[in-house]
Amino acid sequence: MTEDGSDLVLDGNAAAGLLQEIFVAEITNAQIQCESCGFTGAVGSLRLYAAPMGAVLRCTHCNSIVVRAAHTPHGRWLDMTGARHLRF
Ligand SMILES: [Zn+2]
Repeated sequence: MTEDGSDLVLDGNAAAGLLQEIFVAEITNAQIQCESCGFTGAVGSLRLYAAPMGAVLRCTHCNSIVVRAAHTPHGRWLDMTGARHLRF
């Protein structure tokens, strides 16, 4: 092992197994924490504002946007900048 740990750095493909386990889990039961107020609750408990292209999920505690999801002709988009973490 090098002193700076650079021999432990791999590209994202090396995390494929772990990421695949996470992203096939039942998402509505996962616990999500709001970046704005710190409230933690199930994804399924967030307030949904649906639109034809996707969804905006807001915190039930402070009404901040926690998750945005959209399905466009260019792909599926997931913006979770309003969340501190997601725990399965
Ligand atoms: Zn909040």
